[in-house]
Amino acid sequence: NLSDKLDKAFHILKGHGKITDVNVADTLKEVRRALLDADVNFKIAKDFTTRVKEKALGENVLTTLQPGQLMVKIVKDELTQLMGGDVEGINLSGNPSVILMSGLQGSGKTTFSGKLANFLKTKKNKKPLLVACDIYRPAAINQLHVVGDQIGVEVYSEPENKNPVEIAQNAIKHAKANGFNVVIVDTAGRLAVDEEMMTEIANVHRAIQPQETLFVVDAMTGQDAVNTAKAFNDRLNFDGVILTKLDGDTRGGAAISIKSVVNKPIKFIGTGEKMEAIDVFYPSRMAERILGMGDVVSLVERAQEQYNEEEARKLQKKIAKNEFGFDDFLSQIQQIKKMGNMKDLVGMIPGAGKALKDVEIEDDAFKHIEAIIQSMTPAERSKPSLIDVKRKARIAKGAGRKVEEVNQLMKQFDQMSKMMKMMQGGAGKNLMKMMGG
Ligand code: GDP
Ligand code: MG
Repeated sequence: NLSDKLDKAFHILKGHGKITDVNVADTLKEVRRALLDADVNFKIAKDFTTRVKEKALGENVLTTLQPGQLMVKIVKDELTQLMGGDVEGINLSGNPSVILMSGLQGSGKTTFSGKLANFLKTKKNKKPLLVACDIYRPAAINQLHVVGDQIGVEVYSEPENKNPVEIAQNAIKHAKANGFNVVIVDTAGRLAVDEEMMTEIANVHRAIQPQETLFVVDAMTGQDAVNTAKAFNDRLNFDGVILTKLDGDTRGGAAISIKSVVNKPIKFIGTGEKMEAIDVFYPSRMAERILGMGDVVSLVERAQEQYNEEEARKLQKKIAKNEFGFDDFLSQIQQIKKMGNMKDLVGMIPGAGKALKDVEIEDDAFKHIEAIIQSMTPAERSKPSLIDVKRKARIAKGAGRKVEEVNQLMKQFDQMSKMMKMMQGGAGKNLMKMMGG
């Protein structure tokens, strides 16, 4: 992926004590190749490296003590610029504020509509209404109702009505009459850009005059994402981009290209299927992520929402005294589960994506882990070293799992304890907070 490629590029710099014109050029070539591989448009990549080179020469990279780090900083700053500089919010000035979702089928419109409603409800104290304007499949209306139930947000739909313009207009009336201050209109997409879809969404757009039109795009679709963005922007002149499926390893080359081609800010990112997997888009963090530094800030921020200081302090003491046990492990798992998809979270830890690649982190696995821990005695939980072969067999039987799974859990527990110990100093402190609560 892009990050690996850039790692390699910077390795060229870091590997040499002294930097020469030659290896700056080599590095830039690698950077450009990495961007191209990540589906960044050719011209954008070329302009980018030219600017970086000028800056590097301007700042006399060659004569500084740590040229590699300065280069990383220059590349990072340029990337940040390329993706949009400042953070842009969404316009909530209307009464109600109407937000229209656009994008291809499967891009994540319905999921994101739910995430946004949940975000506005819980973080911004809004009263949102979701509107089902995907009239082609009954399942689509159902899907939005399921999402609405999940987050406790009302969904407006008219299953018999085949006119999305009318439905959207009626929904806004309903919102005004019932005190909703945000209306989120979910629409139908097609698998590819087509005229009928464009006409339909343009009609809805014209009829309801949304404060905010958002274009939702799957970050994994690469160069196609750029073409789709352009087509929608030509018709709707949308206000912002939502980049979904930025989970785990997707490094977001699309973010760079889309911003450059349509010149519209990316406002939010989706990082998983759960309703909590939404983050405000921060260009600088995304630049760090692309550069493989890990999205530590987002991780810490999300963690802090779940974080209970008192508990965390207790936990830290336990770890320091080697008293971290399975009961703590269990409560950590429960915390982590609340925070969203495990793979997303691990992906945000710098370096951990690689280190933990082989560790099974399926969400489902939690159930089995919980069962195994629950069949341990309190003594075993607080002192895992007690667990010998005989006890393992008993625990496995009690949990209805295989002994190998107990072994594996013991190993994971061991790794986690070690990791937590390691993280106690420095930057790890923030991660410690994440573990607490
Ligand atoms: P729509 O057709 O545009 O409404 O797309 P949906 O909201 O139905 O999403 C299509 C699929 O993508 C569903 O299976 C979602 O669960 C999934 N999805 C949506 N957003 C994300 C995301 O941020 N990450 C991941 N991994 N999956 C997502
Ligand atoms: Mg949908």
